[in-house]
Amino acid sequence: MQARGCTRCSELASTRKTVVFGAGNADAELMFVGEAPGASEDEQGLPFVGRAGKLLETLLGEIGLERAEVFITNVLMCRPPGNRDPLPLEITNCQQYLMRKVELIQPSVICTLGNFSTKLLREDPTGISRLHGQPEVIRLGSRNVRLYPIYHPAAALYTPRMLDTLREDFMRLPELLALGPPEQPEPAESAAPEAVLEATPAAETTADPGVDQLGLF
Ligand code: URA
Repeated sequence: MQARGCTRCSELASTRKTVVFGAGNADAELMFVGEAPGASEDEQGLPFVGRAGKLLETLLGEIGLERAEVFITNVLMCRPPGNRDPLPLEITNCQQYLMRKVELIQPSVICTLGNFSTKLLREDPTGISRLHGQPEVIRLGSRNVRLYPIYHPAAALYTPRMLDTLREDFMRLPELLALGPPEQPEPAESAAPEAVLEATPAAETTADPGVDQLGLF
C-alpha cells in the first residue's frame, strides 16, 4: 500500500502539496485520529502543526506526555481544498490506510478528535457532543482497542466552554492508559484483514461498505 503518491481521490491528489501520513511513535500506546490536514499540515507534511496542534501539544504536556510518545494521524491524509469537510467517498478511500496504521501500531487507546473520526471508527452516526469522554472497547480489524472520543482541538480553540470540557476529558486519559490493552479476541476469531478481504466475494467488497459509510456523514 503506497500512500505517498495516492491518487484515489482525484481532486485531493491534484490540490494537495503533501500526503500527511501521520507522525509519532510507531509503537505508541496512544493514537490520536483527527479529521484532515489543514494548510500548515499540507505545507509541512506533518499532522497537527497549526494552532489546533499547539493546543493538542499543550494538553498532552498537562498529562505528562510529549508528542513524540504518541502517534497522531487523521481520517484523511490529504487537505480538502479550502478546508471543506471530508466527503464520504474520500473517507472511504482513505479508510484502508487508517486501518493499516492501527494494525501496525497496535495502540491500547485510540482517541478520536471530533465527529469525523468518531463516526468512522464507531461505524455509527452518533455525534461527539453525546459521546465525548466515554471510553468503550471496540473491535478494529483483528484487535480490540479502547476508543475514547473527545472534542476536536480546533473546535475548542474558539469556544472556551468546549476547551474546559476537552481539558477535563484529556485529564482522564492517564487512567485509561493505565488499564493497558483491552482483552483481545481469541486467535481463531482474529483473521488477518487481508485474509478476510480475499475471502470476500469482489461484488460484496465494493458495494456494501461504501453504502454504509455514506449514511454516516
Ligand atoms: N485538524 C485536523 O483534524 N488535523 C490536522 O492535522 C490539523 C488540524
